[in-house]
Amino acid sequence: MARRPLVMGNWKLNGSKAFTRELIAGLKSELKGVEDCDVAIAPPVMYLAEAESALAGSAIVLGAQNVDVNVQGAFTGDISTAMLKDFGAKYIIIGHSERRTYHKESDEFIAKKFAALKEAGLVPVLCIGESEAENEAGKTEEVCARQIDAVINALGVEAFNGAVIAYEPIWAIGTGKSATPAQAQAVHAFIRAHIAAKSQAVADQVIIQYGGSVNDANAAELFTQPDIDGALVGGASLKAPAFAAIVKAAAQAKA
Ligand code: PEP
Repeated sequence: MARRPLVMGNWKLNGSKAFTRELIAGLKSELKGVEDCDVAIAPPVMYLAEAESALAGSAIVLGAQNVDVNVQGAFTGDISTAMLKDFGAKYIIIGHSERRTYHKESDEFIAKKFAALKEAGLVPVLCIGESEAENEAGKTEEVCARQIDAVINALGVEAFNGAVIAYEPIWAIGTGKSATPAQAQAVHAFIRAHIAAKSQAVADQVIIQYGGSVNDANAAELFTQPDIDGALVGGASLKAPAFAAIVKAAAQAKA
């Protein structure tokens, strides 16, 4: 089954109003005429308004880096699904390893965020992946299965209809040391088979992005792999030419 690739930029804790305007202007011009790939950006929520207006007239879709499980009320500092929708955000990253680590987010808590997003009609981008120690101990598949099963156990496998999984080995994030195309493909195939064991139809349509030091030099080869449906990009998403080159590589490889 042909899946439309998705390349998404995770800006993390970077940017300003001016940076947001300039980067989006650069992306709009670099990506003119590129049609065979869905493209999303997740700026800090502070800049969603700036980004929404800068994106007017573009096919680039707005996303966000996090969401809270609560919808309204006395939850100081939190951001709800309704607030994200208010700015036109669609693809929402949850379970990023930086939040799992620095904010102690558990698999079960992340499954609640997944539920909140589905309830609101937003698209969860569920980040999963093993640490370096887990990788060296041969636990990659066990960790990925556990992180996916937390969602399946809470919501059923059908929750992955229209959702996105980002396989991001922690040892590859921000290190310049990407997984090789073959390494990533092996894990992506495992993830798809793990979901297929519950539902082949859900597995066939779920977008599985690779993330971890993707750049304009290594993207094309990663996208030749059949189960890599795009990328979640950190560092290289902060420069319009590099991010656009990754998008173009996905569009070309999957056309
Ligand atoms: C990320 O944190 O989602 C990521 C993939 O970062 P980088 O591309 O910088 O490794």
